[in-house]
Amino acid sequence: MFPSIVNADVTPRDRQRFEKKVQIDLETGCWVWIGALSRAGYGQFSWQGKVRIAPRVAYTWWRGEIPAGLHLDHCVCKYPRCVNPWHLEAVTQRVNNERSACVGTLNAQVTHCPRGHPYDDANTEYHDGGRRRCVTCRRLDNRIRSVLYNGIRAAKRQAAQEGRVLTEEDMADIREALKREVDRRLVAELYGVA
Ligand SMILES: [Zn+2]
Ligand SMILES: [Zn+2]
Repeated sequence: MFPSIVNADVTPRDRQRFEKKVQIDLETGCWVWIGALSRAGYGQFSWQGKVRIAPRVAYTWWRGEIPAGLHLDHCVCKYPRCVNPWHLEAVTQRVNNERSACVGTLNAQVTHCPRGHPYDDANTEYHDGGRRRCVTCRRLDNRIRSVLYNGIRAAKRQAAQEGRVLTEEDMADIREALKREVDRRLVAELYGVA
C-alpha cells in the first residue's frame, strides 16, 4: 500500500517497522505517525543504530537524499506528525515566515500529488489560475464519494422497508463502516502496489 522505496539500504524489515507506525489519512493523504514523538512533535524512528526524525527518514527512503544545505518543511499539510514524503519539500534555510520557505516549491518542484501520484502529462489537469490537480485523485475522490453516498442511501432504504428510523448513532456507525470499506477497497489503488 506504500509506493516503492528508492533507497537501496532499506531492508524489508526496516520498511515493515516503519510502515507499522504510519496510519494513512485518506482525506488529507497524510501519513500520520503513531509511534514515538520528539519534544517538537516530530515522529522518531531508529534506523541503523541511530534515533532519527521520521519525516527525514521517509524523505530519504522514498524520494532520495536531502540536498546539502536544505532542510525539510511540511509544505503541503503543515502537520508535524505527517511523514508522507510528498508532503515535505527540501527548502532553503528556515525563515521567520514558514510559508515563504515553501513558496516556489509548491508548483515548480513538487512532482507528486499529496497522495503520491506523479504530476506528469497524463495525470495532471489545470484549474483556473494554473493550479494543478491530480487526475487519479479526482477520480478516486469521486468514487469514495459515491461509495459513501450509495451506502447511506441503501441503508436508509433498508431501514424504511423494515419500518425503522435511523438515529444519529446509527448514521455514525454506518458512515464508519462505509469508510472502512472505502479504505479496504481503494487504498491499494491510491498508493499503488510496489
Ligand atoms: Zn501530510
Ligand atoms: Zn493523486
